[in-house]
Amino acid sequence: MASQTILVTGAAGFLGSHLCDALFAEGNSVIGVDNFSTGNRDNVAHLASQSRFKLVEHDITRPFDPGKVDYVFNLASPASPIDYSRLGVETLMVGSAGTVNMLDLARKYNAGFLHASTSECYGDPEVHPQVETYWGNVNPIGPRSVYDEAKRFSEAAAMAYHRYYGVNTHLVRIFNTYGPRLQPNDGRVISNFMIQALRGEPLTIYGDGSQTRSFCYVSDLIEGILRLSRSDEHLPVNIGNPNEFTILECAHEVLVATGSKSELIFKPLPQDDPTRRRPDITRARAVLSWEPSINLRQGLEKSLAYFKACTNGSSKH
Ligand code: NAD
Ligand code: UDP
Repeated sequence: MASQTILVTGAAGFLGSHLCDALFAEGNSVIGVDNFSTGNRDNVAHLASQSRFKLVEHDITRPFDPGKVDYVFNLASPASPIDYSRLGVETLMVGSAGTVNMLDLARKYNAGFLHASTSECYGDPEVHPQVETYWGNVNPIGPRSVYDEAKRFSEAAAMAYHRYYGVNTHLVRIFNTYGPRLQPNDGRVISNFMIQALRGEPLTIYGDGSQTRSFCYVSDLIEGILRLSRSDEHLPVNIGNPNEFTILECAHEVLVATGSKSELIFKPLPQDDPTRRRPDITRARAVLSWEPSINLRQGLEKSLAYFKACTNGSSKH
């Protein structure tokens, strides 16, 4: 494929930085945009001296025009419950105004557009596993709504720009993803458990630990996103690993991967915490010939060096 000029919003974040790496490795010119609200320059520091990479500090809730681009990957948004609770209004604004600004940019340059949506669009799902045709069970005024409803708006906006303006839009519903560069302090379960285990501190189980999640390793996720961006599919596609774990089982996997003897302690379950989550990936298999290849134990082992570096005070990876 001929090299392209590609804009990645949220480039200094966990997923954005891995996406920049993959696009750069293919020979593309990559423009990263980030306001560093939850991301970290260190995540893309290894690309900083490259002529085909540029990092721009900008808040995408304000319009941004870097000149002609061939593709826009829109990943900017606080993503962990701790981050979007702290940055509630900012999360609503980046999902709404920010997404519309990036759709306008894609429309102006006749560029492709992919939006990072989320399994949170399904809320606390009554359908299991979650299939893309399920409309979800979201509390529109609950503490998670700043994230969930912003993402649901951004999906509606992408579909509208596709239907009314013919923009080549793609929507990926990302399920819990982990790996190196997951921010050590963003409160997500894998980062919390890995850091706690490596420090020999108790692992904090919220509720009784019977709630489930399905964890996808970052390289599998990035491959799915790239395939979707080059497909003709405009409807949402779930990308995630369908292997489902209770949070207690997840804690056990972390203890095995780290060789830690940490104990488990129980803390209150946050309000509206989804009870069960597992992607139905039939559509991804059919349309993208994609499925994940790395299981949780393998992915935790691949992430170990990064989390060890975090606990030693250095997190460059
Ligand atoms: P992250 O917090 O590591 O990265 C998000 C990046 O967006 C950060 O670098 C942050 O500084 C930047 N950002 C936030 N608001 C911005 C704004 N207004 N302007 C410019 N930059 C802004 O999170 P992540 O895990 O890498 O998530 C990336 C995307 O994928 C998010 O849109 C998230 O909702 C989505 N997603 C992630 C997961 C997951 O498991 N990691 C699951 C579902 C969806
Ligand atoms: N969780 C937990 N202990 C922690 C962090 C999270 O038990 O230290 C639980 C949390 O309540 C949720 C699951 O793990 O049920 C996943 O939480 P995370 O914040 O990673 O993602 P999300 O809730 O957005 O899926």
